[in-house]
Amino acid sequence: MRKPLIAGNWKMYKTPRESLAFLEKFLPLVEGHTRDEIALFPTMSSLGYVLEATEGTNVRAGAQTMHWLNEGPYTGQTSPTMLASINCTHVLLGHSERRIYANETDDMVNWKLKAAIGHNLVPIVCVGETMDKRQSGLTEAVLRWQIANALNGVEREGSEKLIIAYEPVWAIGTGSTATPTVVSEAHRIIRREVAERLGQERADATRIIYGGSVKPENASQLMAQPEIDGALVGGGSLDAETFARIVKYS
Ligand code: PGA
Repeated sequence: MRKPLIAGNWKMYKTPRESLAFLEKFLPLVEGHTRDEIALFPTMSSLGYVLEATEGTNVRAGAQTMHWLNEGPYTGQTSPTMLASINCTHVLLGHSERRIYANETDDMVNWKLKAAIGHNLVPIVCVGETMDKRQSGLTEAVLRWQIANALNGVEREGSEKLIIAYEPVWAIGTGSTATPTVVSEAHRIIRREVAERLGQERADATRIIYGGSVKPENASQLMAQPEIDGALVGGGSLDAETFARIVKYS
């Protein structure tokens, strides 16, 4: 009932030309693939090109971040209205690199989530603990805190499209993937917290995807877990053939 989402987060990689070259290879490789939803998150400078090149295909595209206001004197920002105006459908919110390098707080993630819902965008809220917190036994506390804050004031109605990405900071870009057991346990904690905020029915329908060193070699093992509803892939999404193998996880 929860259709898996395999998403590629390109971070600060790929010019528009490189993005289009990727699509030229990637689109034929995943043509007709309907088991999973596929989405790509290019940089703002490539997003318009990727949206145009994927129109009418089974691949969606989204932004890596956005502001929560519609317009204003905020140099460097892009608003939800602007994303919606170019038919962008998805947006990543609160990725740990945004939290670490752009000082995004739980409050900002909450405002952004409400703005995304207001603009009918598919929000992918990223949460996850650092190695420090995990070793201190605080994984559950961190995840519950991040979810509770992100969902503060969010209503059941309107949150139908919400997706949560569990991305333990220690597994991102490090090559050390969390084991399926560790991920499943974290996803259960997240789903329980969503249930507390939005009710069990909504929690059961909410997709929770995993991110952190997902590769073709570990994708099938992760995707075999009933609690794992997809993947958010960084490094493994930069090469068309590699990402297509992850999408197919077979
Ligand atoms: P990674 O990044 O796959 O390179 O670990 C995942 C992410 O940051 O979304």
